[in-house]
Amino acid sequence: MADMIVTLAAVAELAQDCQRCQLAQSRTNLVFGEGDPHAQLMFVGEGPGEVEDQTGRPFVGKAGQLLTQILQAVGIRREDVYITNVVKCRPPGNRVPTKAEMDACWDWLEAQIALINPRIIVTLGNAATQRLLGRSEGIGQLRGKFYRWQGGIEVFPMFHPSFLLRNPSRKKGSPKYLTWLDIQAVKERLALLCSQTPKG
Ligand code: URA
Ligand code: URA
Repeated sequence: MADMIVTLAAVAELAQDCQRCQLAQSRTNLVFGEGDPHAQLMFVGEGPGEVEDQTGRPFVGKAGQLLTQILQAVGIRREDVYITNVVKCRPPGNRVPTKAEMDACWDWLEAQIALINPRIIVTLGNAATQRLLGRSEGIGQLRGKFYRWQGGIEVFPMFHPSFLLRNPSRKKGSPKYLTWLDIQAVKERLALLCSQTPKG
């Protein structure tokens, strides 16, 4: 028990063999997450899609490209954040992960959050938002506001980029328009939090 220094890389390694739920059977690759292990800002999506399952990387398909663009729009570099999902293995046909699957996967996400200790967690879409906040309202109700997770880290729900791909309108009040406001709010809040108390 001498060496109990747990790193994100060590947890990622451990996760690779995970058999905690049925998604293990159909996965090509487990998609643990990627980015800065000391990120101030973390994104939690729903679950890997086809390209993610193939590559083992989160948010690299069409939705992922849109997420990268949303970040770029406010000058946030993808490599400076940490990106993961509420389940680490692809649900067949990209269905929404079940509560049992999200529960089975929860320890991995909890470890990631504890080790990264970000200032803000952005949850993308209904599944991640409802699971993290323990609430049942839809993303349309919950998005665009800051919540406290376990008394500390702030959680800010946003629309899922896949939803934005299906709803491309940019007119006032549209999901894309609101997302533009949301990511600016994240950027501003992050700057404020970082200026108030330097991180460890
Ligand atoms: N959608 C998600 O929720 N997560 C990914 O990693 C890719 C697409
Ligand atoms: N459903 C989701 O999961 N996410 C959205 O952004 C919209 C509907």
